[in-house]
Amino acid sequence: MEGSIFFNGIDVTRASDSMLRRIRGKDIGMIFQDPMASLDPLRTVGSQLMEVIEDHEAAYGRDAEKLAKSSLLSVGLSENIFYSYPHQLSGGQRQRVAIARALILKPNFIVADEPVSMLDVSIRASILDILERFKRELSISTLFITHDLAVARLVGNRLAIMYLGKIVEEGPVDEVLGKPLHPFTKALIDSMPSIKRREKSNFRLKDVIPDPINPPSGCRLYPGCPLATKECMLIEPTLKTLGERRVACHYPLE
Ligand code: SF4
Repeated sequence: MEGSIFFNGIDVTRASDSMLRRIRGKDIGMIFQDPMASLDPLRTVGSQLMEVIEDHEAAYGRDAEKLAKSSLLSVGLSENIFYSYPHQLSGGQRQRVAIARALILKPNFIVADEPVSMLDVSIRASILDILERFKRELSISTLFITHDLAVARLVGNRLAIMYLGKIVEEGPVDEVLGKPLHPFTKALIDSMPSIKRREKSNFRLKDVIPDPINPPSGCRLYPGCPLATKECMLIEPTLKTLGERRVACHYPLE
């Protein structure tokens, strides 16, 4: 692993465990892909919510219980869920509990890692609506990680596209998806099924899958990129600013 991640001036990649515990929950809320794995199956929802509140000394006893129950109401669940175990809930209810837990102390930043990818398509929209409402009402910044460009368009302001662990393009979501500058972004968008667009795009990557543990030198996309030249093989492109966008390609698309 290389690089650093700063949050409010603290390098979280080098912070102590006690510092990370203090930041998590209070300043940063985490929502994971699989709510069944992120909740403790042996403890009630209520005790897991109260643990977050009491650990951060936000309230104790009856006050903590009241806060926990109001957080359940805020994500559209009944107060009675407080007494339930995770296995007694549906996937959508569990993800609502996970959101309530992440937001209970009103953090100013959320990391949501594929929060709807394991949910039934019919309930994804309601979970995204809850996240969107909290984002608006509490002015929370969100880092939303997804493989689904349609979800990214729905929830994002700025979009960063990654290939083999590196950002290759970044910018306002509508610009990136409307007029991609990086060949990987273009291929990604063109591979999306669309009800409106039935014709196939001519822009395709070659069918080569590099080893992510030992990626190619130079540009990581060059073995599969139809625009690759010798320069791409030898020199790794860095992110360059083009208007409101940043793109890492020697020959960005027009
Ligand atoms: S730098 Fe070269 S190989 Fe890499 S994406 Fe751009 S054109 Fe393709």
